Amino acid sequence: EGSLTVAELAKKLGREPSEIIKKLFMLGVMATINQDLDKDAIELICSDYGVEVEEKVTIDETNFETIEIVDAPEDLTERPPVVTIMGHVDHGKTTLLDAIRHSKVTEQEAGGITQHIGAYQVTVNGKKITFLDTPGHEAFTTMRARGAQVTDIVILVVAADDGVMPQTVEAINHAKAANVPIIVAINKMDKPEANPDRVMQELMEYNLVPEEWGGDTIFCKLSAKTKDGIDQLLEMILLVSEMEELKANPNRRAIGTVIEAKLDKGRGPVATLLVQAGTLKIGDPIVVGTTYGRVRAMVNDSGRRVKEAGPSMPVEITGLHDVPQAGDRFMVFEDEKKARQIGEARAQRQLQEQRSVKTRVSLDDLFEQI
Ligand code: GDP
Ligand code: MG
Repeated sequence: EGSLTVAELAKKLGREPSEIIKKLFMLGVMATINQDLDKDAIELICSDYGVEVEEKVTIDETNFETIEIVDAPEDLTERPPVVTIMGHVDHGKTTLLDAIRHSKVTEQEAGGITQHIGAYQVTVNGKKITFLDTPGHEAFTTMRARGAQVTDIVILVVAADDGVMPQTVEAINHAKAANVPIIVAINKMDKPEANPDRVMQELMEYNLVPEEWGGDTIFCKLSAKTKDGIDQLLEMILLVSEMEELKANPNRRAIGTVIEAKLDKGRGPVATLLVQAGTLKIGDPIVVGTTYGRVRAMVNDSGRRVKEAGPSMPVEITGLHDVPQAGDRFMVFEDEKKARQIGEARAQRQLQEQRSVKTRVSLDDLFEQI
């Protein structure tokens, strides 16, 4: 913040506040001792005393979601894509998510019990893919509205026996607004009445043109029920991911987004975090939304305890003071004191914002009555 009160400025300059007030008066500014001075007034006074004001670029860490992550290219390494499945109701989103999960997760992690933590990872040809478990546009738009872009690729599920429906169009619009590439999954190919050509025809209207028709959209014909075509879909995801050159620096303090959170009777606040850059470790002091804490335990999507989580990995953590909200951003800080300070400042700011909204509302009410 570039502002100081008269008293603070006086102290910095080693002068009496009354002297500053007098000077301001001479400059045509009426000020009291606790008044905030703007940058211009501060500069004016300082130059009057022959003091140069150094422009200090202070990064406001309480607003850490606005800090742009700048990493040197050599620090960046490939990271798994984060995929969201969208589409019209009953077109098979949940069935597809389950089919992918069961065809890949359980066979690899023998003995691992799949946990629903809101996201999961599968390994295909030695490469990982992260799937967000909440299909549906609401989760996607809520997160985007909160400034969190967690999805790299959208899988648009369209039932081959039903074609393009209102929520199909909605999903296309969301993905386009977020500038996220779309892979079309024509589902329910096992049904006798399946008509993939009709789906492709209908999607042309939305500029989703298959490669075989001269376009650049990848279409996969599959059946979430029989699992036919799922392997090809996963390979296409990896292909798109490669073209997108998704990268992150694993060697920095972790930053990312809350996928879901709840209060657990035994464990207290529990949150699934998607690490987007850096590596999250046990013991890390962390600010999550308006709450904070220290990462006490981390569990992956197979219910296994892990010590760290790198870019694009979802983990469920405990150790927070409060339950954050889906879409909240998180960031690791150097020590617990700092995390606490930032967390409390953010909570305070949110409270003030809520109050000012309330005041505005009640003023409006008042004027309405008049
Ligand atoms: P969602 O609303 O998009 O999540 O759709 P669901 O996954 O709940 O699927 C809706 C219905 O379609 C369920 O009865 C599924 O069993 C069925 N279904 C999903 N995928 C397929 C498929 O590939 N083939 C057939 N025949 N039925 C499917
Ligand atoms: Mg569903």
